Amino acid sequence: MEDKIKILSGLISGSKSTVFFGGAGVSTESGIPDFRSESGLYKAQKVYGHPPEYLLSHTLFEREPDLFFRYYKENLIAADAAPNAAHIALARLEDRGLLAAVLTQNIDGLHTAAGGKNVLELHGSNHRQYCVDCGERYGLGYILADANCKGIIPKCKKCGGTVRPDVVLYEEGLDGAVVESAARAISRAELLIVGGTSLAVYPAAGLLRYFNGENLVIINKSETPGDRMARLVINDSIGFVLGQVMDILQNM
Ligand code: ZN
Repeated sequence: MEDKIKILSGLISGSKSTVFFGGAGVSTESGIPDFRSESGLYKAQKVYGHPPEYLLSHTLFEREPDLFFRYYKENLIAADAAPNAAHIALARLEDRGLLAAVLTQNIDGLHTAAGGKNVLELHGSNHRQYCVDCGERYGLGYILADANCKGIIPKCKKCGGTVRPDVVLYEEGLDGAVVESAARAISRAELLIVGGTSLAVYPAAGLLRYFNGENLVIINKSETPGDRMARLVINDSIGFVLGQVMDILQNM
């Protein structure tokens, strides 16, 4: 393990362009549950009567917005979660000019909270909410004002329209500009570090096809379909690994 972390540190310090691509595993270390995990699937079915894919679908948002907001507020928002060692290490790498971009599938905004600047949020962010009718923008606090009534549908102060999260629901497409920026960052990278993702969620996972660089590194607690293409695979906690890398780089 120690050797692998040394190799990764060397790859980062020697790379002219490094991109990090992260999934739910980056957030679980901040105590944010993965709604696609086995317990997440079970809870969705048992408590709300539907699988998460339906509870977070555009169809449900249109048909039963009260149920949509109840599930969303109770399961997708962790307002008091804080950045963990992985978020902090990535922000420091960026500060030191060793990381070009962070691409994330998470919607919790923790990379930005840790000080990350070039953060591409492929699935949007809980911290951005907007009115579907007039486009007025709101922060997360606006929809949490009614925390005691989680089924309440947030309404726009200006026009009374529904205020919804700027996150990509099932049946909705990703933001074209964000995908384009992400594809460009990956295509320019010499080193791509993929962390905390089983690489199962498309279309975000399909972005890996744009990588033409030398070194793919995968950090995940379990195996992924990308392992056979990787220069280095580390099966451990992403926060632990990146924290160790920062310690090594600081002493170089
Ligand atoms: Zn409005």
